[in-house]
Amino acid sequence: MSSQRDADHQQIIAQLEQLLEPKRVLTDAESLENWGRDWTRFHTPAPLAIAFPKDINEVQALVRFANEQKLGIVPSGGRTGLSSGAVALNGELVISFDRMNKISDFSPVDRTVRCEAGVITEQLQNFAEEQELYYPVDFASSGSSQIGGNIATNAGGIKVIRYGMTRDWVAGLKVVTGKGEILELNHDLLKNNTGYDLRQLFIGGEGTLGLIVEATMRLVRPPRDLTALLLGVPDMPAVMRVLERFQKAIDLTAFEFFSEKALAKVVEHHPVQRPFESKTPYYALLEFECLNEELMEQAMNLFEECLEAGDVEDGVISQSLSQLENLWKCREYISETITRWTPYKNDISVVTSKVPMFLEEIEQVVNSQYPDFEIIWFGHIGDGNLHLNILKPDALDRDEFLQQCENVSRQVFDIVQQYKGSVSAEHGVGLLKKKWLGYSRSEAEISYMKAIKLAFDPNNIMNPGKMLDV
Ligand SMILES: Cc1cc2nc3c(=O)[nH]c(=O)nc-3n(C[C@H](O)[C@H](O)[C@H](O)COP(=O)(O)OP(=O)(O)OC[C@H]3O[C@@H](n4cnc5c(N)ncnc54)[C@H](O)[C@@H]3O)c2cc1C
Repeated sequence: MSSQRDADHQQIIAQLEQLLEPKRVLTDAESLENWGRDWTRFHTPAPLAIAFPKDINEVQALVRFANEQKLGIVPSGGRTGLSSGAVALNGELVISFDRMNKISDFSPVDRTVRCEAGVITEQLQNFAEEQELYYPVDFASSGSSQIGGNIATNAGGIKVIRYGMTRDWVAGLKVVTGKGEILELNHDLLKNNTGYDLRQLFIGGEGTLGLIVEATMRLVRPPRDLTALLLGVPDMPAVMRVLERFQKAIDLTAFEFFSEKALAKVVEHHPVQRPFESKTPYYALLEFECLNEELMEQAMNLFEECLEAGDVEDGVISQSLSQLENLWKCREYISETITRWTPYKNDISVVTSKVPMFLEEIEQVVNSQYPDFEIIWFGHIGDGNLHLNILKPDALDRDEFLQQCENVSRQVFDIVQQYKGSVSAEHGVGLLKKKWLGYSRSEAEISYMKAIKLAFDPNNIMNPGKMLDV
């Protein structure tokens, strides 16, 4: 770094320390590395500093200062993102919400509660439980991800088939735009037809329009007597036939799938037992509220029908909460278990009815193009969402691996485009999927998206280079 640039940076850091206080502006190498990236490991973080505001006024002061200095801002939540959305590569200021984690203003009548952006997802789930209510957005990283990050990525998870995505649970938002203005969006109303709903632009906006500082989240009646069935299935089309059969008769709260390769890795690396002795190529995990004997009987009949049809080869049903939790571990531990192989993740979706044909085509490409790579399939297949994970061989260089995966992704995304599917069902675009955005969104749409970005953030300081380039 030139001495002039170094001096400029020192001056900016000194000013940041004045805006907050020195101990809430970190610049040591370990902190820059820790807060400068998300869960992905494809980039080397290089932020200027990490700031930890403790209220909305400090967030606003930071954004105004960044505008004056033309300093990029990377919003940072729990850093569990899987699209390199919270990665700071070019001397940006990382704004972390770790110090803003208060829950307040619970309203039992409205069944809403206010969360600062840094509230951990699990903290909200636990709070809801204490009120005998339920916050249904759930996934394996709930113990670390933050509500601000969940909203910025419109996180989905394992209960979408019944409860929808994060978007469905946001009653109101308080944001600081890229211009430094504070907006209160929707005032927590259930009904509000007064024109464009700007709240929805910030949900899934990946921090490119501004910072989510506070959110009012909706809660719901907790599910009762949850019961899970784990079924061994011979192939992916059979997984879809099982879904169809069960969905016709029972309201499911989850329908997930994973491959034997995924399960083998989980049982090898965790104290988790195989659900049954026989191994099948795929497994379907179904969950429903077993409210009476009749429902249980219906589920068992459907299981028998699937067995007779050859769509299921073995299965087990949970008889207690601990059995339910154990079955879920088989699915929930997959992401974390495969992290050690720096997986290249494709998170693709189509409308559920098209999944069987779509899968057939994707499988053909993957099997012919990735003969030497280990592939781990799992996902929220009841939502039409598949996670295709390619594990990096230890001997292969990271950049070479990324290059090879991207070459095949092009063919995968050609199929996604043909089916009018999404190149990012839930992880977001960030850096990793930016070049593929055009496979899911038209040129006209992208130009409107750019115009929206510049309306909120004319100096392009908010998460610059993520999702799209302006
Ligand atoms: C093991 C594992 C399992 C996962 N399973 C799922 C799953 O099933 N479904 C799913 O949808 N995701 C899943 N994820 C991905 C991830 O957990 C979600 O995307 C989550 O919502 C990210 O939240 P975060 O707080 O960690 O955000 P971060 O990773 O910190 O940031 C994500 C994006 O949001 C922006 N951002 C963060 N906070 C704010 C804010 N306050 N204001 C504006 N922008 C902000 C960041 O700049 C970045 O672009 C999983 C991740 C892991 C590691």
